[in-house]
Amino acid sequence: MQFIDLMAQQARIKDKIDARIQDVMAHGKYILGPEVKELEQKLTEFTGAKYAVGVASGTDALLMPLMAYEIGPGDAVFCPPFTFIATAEVVKLLGATPVFVDIDASTYNMDAAKLEEAVIKVKEKGKLNLKGIIPVDLFGQPADYDEINAVADKYGMFVLEDAAQGFGGTYKGKKACSLSHSAGTSFFPAKPLGTYGDGGMCFTNDKDIYEKLLSIRVHGKGTNKYDNVRVGLNGRLDTLMAAILLPKVEIFAEEIELRQEVAKRYNEKLKDYVTVPYVKDENISAWAQYSVLHDDREKVMSGLKEEGIPTAVYYPKPLHLQDAFADLGYKYGDFPVSEDIAGKIFSLPMYPYLGKEDQDKIIEAVKKYS
Ligand SMILES: *Cc1c(COP(=O)(O)O)cnc(C)c1O
Repeated sequence: MQFIDLMAQQARIKDKIDARIQDVMAHGKYILGPEVKELEQKLTEFTGAKYAVGVASGTDALLMPLMAYEIGPGDAVFCPPFTFIATAEVVKLLGATPVFVDIDASTYNMDAAKLEEAVIKVKEKGKLNLKGIIPVDLFGQPADYDEINAVADKYGMFVLEDAAQGFGGTYKGKKACSLSHSAGTSFFPAKPLGTYGDGGMCFTNDKDIYEKLLSIRVHGKGTNKYDNVRVGLNGRLDTLMAAILLPKVEIFAEEIELRQEVAKRYNEKLKDYVTVPYVKDENISAWAQYSVLHDDREKVMSGLKEEGIPTAVYYPKPLHLQDAFADLGYKYGDFPVSEDIAGKIFSLPMYPYLGKEDQDKIIEAVKKYS
């Protein structure tokens, strides 16, 4: 059994993917070829966001909007500490200061009430400019955008949705990547919409940000590649990666449905043995991960391993305790909810094609070892 089996999907649409790859081989436009535009178009339709820019990774899909917002030293950007490092890494990379805000104990997403407290604290200290907020759609569930957007509006900040895991999810009927000023997602193979390499996409409704992203993607180009009006990077999505994604987009909505069925079954059968994920009524999760809590996760995980069932821990150490952010001066105890969850959480196999037999095997093993 695999934690995420990408081959099941490949078997289903291999002919279409092969044909798309052959098209690229034939037309030869390997850099920003027509498939990149086609994918951008398809995903604006899918998400409801106005503009999309295909980029080289999910990390670039967060870094580039921050560059477009001209974030730098002296600027505060608020984000949760219970996430993948990229969320806060991009802030620090630009010389700005990540300010962590603890998570909600039931959704594991940024706690919107604690966000305003953190903003007021930074404001009162008077050392940093209030610039932006990066909520994370953790494990596939969108964060609390109404509350977060309200705080952003009140204090004149932008919101950049980290939808690397949330792509395909829904908040109050609206799709992830359309929930605030701008968004970034990842096409890393294991993400809900994954390609066969690295890739990502930025989304925004703001024309000015969109135009800046197009420039930043190609070394800060102005009228052409050799007219450089700002510092940018090589942040392009490969044509081949876009081509591989196009047939995957066709079946993506159905795959999100299949993930709901797996999650629903896990929820029903496991709720008395582990703390199962809580998804708000107003949300649909993209189920990038199916993560549960147990006080002795090592016991459960090693039992599952014995039965040939892989698990993973996202995330064992919150970002405020990582050496990479030691200079920010945080310590153990600063974000108790993140710390508590980090000590109990682990994820079970989750992908659209996880069959009932495998599900039953996993369910029985969790019951046995929990
Ligand atoms: C995967 C991930 C990223 C980074 O995406 P890459 O494509 O690996 O660069 C950023 N944020 C979160 C929450 C992620 O899970």
